[in-house]
Order: sequence, then C-alpha cells, then structure tokens
Amino acid sequence: MHDFTYKNSELYAEGVPVRKIVEKAGTPTYIYSRSTLIRHYRAYREAFDGYPHIICFALKANPNTSILKILSKEGCGADVVSGGELFIAKKAGISPEKIVYAGVGKTGEEIAFALKSRILMFNVESAEELKAINRIAGKLKVKAPVALRVNPDIASGTHPYISTGLKKHKFGIPLDKALEHYKIASKLPNIKVLGIHKHIGSQILKTAPFVDALKKVLSFANTLKSYGINIKYLDIGGGLGIPYNNGEAPPHPKDLAKAILPLLKAYPFTLVIEPGRSIAGNAGILVTKVLYPKKGFDREFIIVDAGMNDLLRPSIYNAYHDIAPVVRKKTAKIFADIVGPICESGDFLAKDRNINRPEQEDLLAVMSAGAYGFSMSSNYNARPRAAEVLVNGKEFFVIRKRETYKDLLHGEKVPGFLK
Ligand SMILES: *Cc1c(COP(=O)(O)O)cnc(C)c1O
Repeated sequence: MHDFTYKNSELYAEGVPVRKIVEKAGTPTYIYSRSTLIRHYRAYREAFDGYPHIICFALKANPNTSILKILSKEGCGADVVSGGELFIAKKAGISPEKIVYAGVGKTGEEIAFALKSRILMFNVESAEELKAINRIAGKLKVKAPVALRVNPDIASGTHPYISTGLKKHKFGIPLDKALEHYKIASKLPNIKVLGIHKHIGSQILKTAPFVDALKKVLSFANTLKSYGINIKYLDIGGGLGIPYNNGEAPPHPKDLAKAILPLLKAYPFTLVIEPGRSIAGNAGILVTKVLYPKKGFDREFIIVDAGMNDLLRPSIYNAYHDIAPVVRKKTAKIFADIVGPICESGDFLAKDRNINRPEQEDLLAVMSAGAYGFSMSSNYNARPRAAEVLVNGKEFFVIRKRETYKDLLHGEKVPGFLK
C-alpha cells in the first residue's frame, strides 16, 4: 500500500500533485511519502508487538537523512554495512544501541569507529573478522558485542544476485562450522557473544524460507546452549518482498510474525529485524520526463531523462518497475521500451510495456523506487544525481538538491604539471 494515487487523472503524492513538485524540483526526481514510510514501519512494530524486538532499518535501501529521521522518531534502529552508513545513521539521530553492523569486509578503521560509537552489535561473518575485532577492541580497552552471521543454506526463491543464504554465497558462516566459531568467539578476551544473525536474501515472496531458516538457526541455538553459550539477540535479517505490481503477492509483516513468533515463544530472545525494501520501496517513486519517442526496427522506444545511473535495478536485476503516467491521457496504446539517455544497451527502466503513447515532455512515474533507487545511483556518463523530495500531507520539501556540473568535479585535483 502507498500514498501515490490518482485524483482526476492526475498522480498525487499524498496531497500534492506530482506535476507541482516537478515544476519546482525538475526531473529526474525521487519523491517519497512520509505517511507511507510510517505506515510500513508501524506494520512491523504492530506485527511483532507480542515479542521483545528491535526494528533496524537497512540503511542501504535508502540512507537519506530525512527518511532516517522519520523512522528514528518512530523508534526505529539501523542495520548498517559500512562506516559511512554508521556515520549517516548517527547523524540522523539513530541511537547506537539500536544499530547493528553487518558485512563481510569491515576495515580496521570501520571496526574502531563502530566500537567507539558503542553500537548494539557487530554481525560477524568470519573467524578472521572476529580476531580483528578482538584485537581492535583490546587496543581500545572495550568489549566488542558480537553476533555471528550464520549461513543456513536456504534458497530464498529470489533473484540470484539478491539471494545471500546459500552455501555458495560469500555471506555468513556455514552452519556446520558455526559451533567452532562460537567456541573461538567465547574464548576471545575482548569479545562479548550476544547474538546470532542470518539474512537469506531480498525480495522474498513467501514466509516458508524465513521459517525454514529460523528452524535451522533455533536448532543451532539449542546446540550452543548445551555448550554453555547463551544468546540474547536473535537477528533474522530483512528480505521481505514488496509488490512491484508484476503479480507479486508478498506476505505482510503480520504474516511473517504469525509464521515465526510461535517458534520463538519458548525462547527468551530479543528479536532483531532488518527490513529495508519493505519499508522504503513503495514509499518512493522516480519521476522522469519524456525526451523523445523513437521507432526502432521492431519496437518503439520512449527515451526519458532518467537512466540506469538514476535507477540501476532494471539493468542489473532485470527488475520490474511499474511505469505510470503523471497525467493520464487517452492516447493510443503502444508496446514500448522505456529507456534512458546512457550509452549502454543495458540502460532501460522498463521493457515491452503496453502503455498509452506519451508525448514529448510528458512526465512518467517509475513506481516502487524508494528502496535501492537513489542509494544505488551514480554519476556514470557524468550525469548529476537526481533531486530527492519528501512529501508530508499537502507540503513537500527538497531533501537533497539535484547535483550540478560543478559537483561532478568535487574532489578532483589536477597535478601541477598539467596546469
Ligand atoms: C540488504 C540487507 C538487509 C535488507 O534487505 P531488504 O530486502 O531490503 O529488507 C537486511 N540485512 C542485511 C544484512 C542486508 O544485507
């Protein structure tokens, strides 16, 4: 559910016509709905109400400070995967005791930064990382709180590039090696073993993979207990899918809670949940302007001013995003590819779409773009990155300015001999 709806043939973001926002902010522009974000967050909070839990928004889905402030004011924590994300989360006011830190390649500097920040825990992905954290914590004279990320070898039924919980993936510690790792961890003097973590993938459309993975993790937690290793936090990761309007019917957080809470009843854990996409995905759209219609050999192209540098998901995951006119018109229907201006054949936003023929200068909304949209954008082809706008009822605010040409040169230095 989201708050981008039509009134009199015109697309609104909450109470504001999208056209109005574009008049001020131009295109391409990301537009986010505050009410949608809050509703998605509260859906989790209410679903897991009966069990101690912390909801840690996965920053990589959308790290805009205003988005994070909306969530942190609701009590949300953060799941970060880099020092940069930790920095942004703290700046946005997310309290460190609600921040968990995952990722296979944490650097020494990042580990020290997280220790000094007193985060809730590291989700550790290897024995070598454990030793590094132990060493750095020793130097800083603190005890490092850790969970070990286990890899439960569960197929999540999602795109191979956003699946993370199979044996062949670089993520986590294989379950059959996890006990060994916990034994190492519990002997390291500067490590405090607090939890167990898993994250099996993204855009998961069934509860079964969550249940199967949790069963494996719980059985492992029992083993740990028999070795005297007691876990406080059980972190089930994120990954719940969203409807992209392509026939998906993902479970609601309520369904997820209903499927997994009965399994947890007997355990005195605090649950950590790390949703990203299911909070931010349908809380945002990308608005783009039609530059040129173009007839190809066997298809039509609608060339727009947003490209793969603005929204990478179609190019790298073949992801489906609904394309909606900002003002509905009764023009003829055509089949077309909606493509960007970038010099790559992989630069498309949508393929083979049956849409009303748009005219030059018409605005199109790329729906469900609030997660892994702006956060994956780049300056490829020397394109300034898009603006971001937040809608709150009848008001809207530019929460990130469109980049300028000058921004493209930020940080560059020309050596003297070339001057
Ligand atoms: C990406 C990621 C998430 C969030 O995944 P979503 O599919 O956006 O919910 C959560 N935890 C970890 C460790 C991740 O890498």
